[in-house]
Amino acid sequence: MLYSEASDLIAVIFLNYVLPTFNAILIAGITITTAKIRISEGLSLIWCYFFPAQIILNWIQFYRQPSFIPLTTEPIPALITKTNDLIQRDISITMPDQTVIKYKECYKCDLYVPERSHHCPYCKKCVYILDHHCFFLGYCVGRTNMKYFITFCMWAAIGTAYGLYHIFDVMTFYRSISGKEAMFYFFPFTFAMWYVERAADFEVFYIFLLDFGLGALIICIFLTSMGLYSTLNNSTPYEDRKNIKADGSDKSLLDNFEAVFGRHGYFHFVFPMFPTKATRIPVGYRR
Ligand SMILES: [Zn+2]
Ligand SMILES: [Zn+2]
Repeated sequence: MLYSEASDLIAVIFLNYVLPTFNAILIAGITITTAKIRISEGLSLIWCYFFPAQIILNWIQFYRQPSFIPLTTEPIPALITKTNDLIQRDISITMPDQTVIKYKECYKCDLYVPERSHHCPYCKKCVYILDHHCFFLGYCVGRTNMKYFITFCMWAAIGTAYGLYHIFDVMTFYRSISGKEAMFYFFPFTFAMWYVERAADFEVFYIFLLDFGLGALIICIFLTSMGLYSTLNNSTPYEDRKNIKADGSDKSLLDNFEAVFGRHGYFHFVFPMFPTKATRIPVGYRR
């Protein structure tokens, strides 16, 4: 095996399996530890069930509704007009009912795909209104699973904040946050101290959860905000960078919200299994 092939394989294993597994371990660790603390303090466990349930159900829905372009075996039912220019080839497809739909060519999939699709090099498929490939959930975020991605990040942020509060509360009982002992809240230091038997096993675990949990909390707040921003503006990070305005970008915020979340889509924030008409993805045609 060539060096580049081996390093590619390691990268693929790391990105596709290690990151989602790390994500799941962090969520499970924070949840179980929080539940343990709540039981020992005689407090209700309701939120310890509610937050992970939301996170898991949204993750399941996220996988169940990928945003890949469905492929039809039917021949293209329309007239293809190609406008050549050196930078981009615009393709308009005039359907039998005279509506004109903009398509483009994906040379990797060998398909005509709807405009605003992008080819994901990790999933090796074209994704409709690709937002980004999410390594932590292990899949692409596009038009149909965007709503689950946003609610996942939102509940992950709330659940993590809730768990961190409890874990931190217990840790302050053992180590003061002020003075020299504050160093124990820094994972590499605690790990080194544990190695020389100056910190307990549970401390290493708690500080691991606190530090990585804090990172996850910041990332989740950022991703929830970015996801809502893209949704309400009917844009994607790529389109924002390139200053591309999608058709209908003058629509109201509510229209844009409903285009992603469906009608009465705010129910999705609490009921991930809420049935709404799934966003229809235009089909791809063979070239
Ligand atoms: Zn493609
Ligand atoms: Zn992808």
